[in-house]
Amino acid sequence: MAETPTRSSDDAIATEVSVPAQITLFGFDTVPATARIEARSAAWRVRRTSIALAATLIAAPAVALVPPHAPWAVGALGIGLLSAVRRWAEKHTLHFLEGACPRCSEVITISHSVRLRHPHAISCPSCHYELAITVEL
Ligand SMILES: [Zn+2]
Repeated sequence: MAETPTRSSDDAIATEVSVPAQITLFGFDTVPATARIEARSAAWRVRRTSIALAATLIAAPAVALVPPHAPWAVGALGIGLLSAVRRWAEKHTLHFLEGACPRCSEVITISHSVRLRHPHAISCPSCHYELAITVEL
């Protein structure tokens, strides 16, 4: 496990960690992969959740001015609450992953930051099977 301190726009110093991962598909051998993740602190999650809730409370009354009023406000509240729940649930962020598909051996790469789920589902770009990524924390 190698820690790589990096600068992030959100935190003063963010820490990304390279960890071993596995790509699994039922009926096929597990394939090792390399992932770079970042643990999110409670303070980061609270801040992001608060931003999402504040944006929701600003946007919902604004969109409610447009007829037919109520559906826009309810929609904005729903989207805002869903966004806030996702920010709160983001305990780890997956920044990078590289491995191979267990079925077709196509290279699997994730190079953008996403919320890490356990297990993290991804679709193979070649054979389109739904793969599961498990990261050893
Ligand atoms: Zn595949």
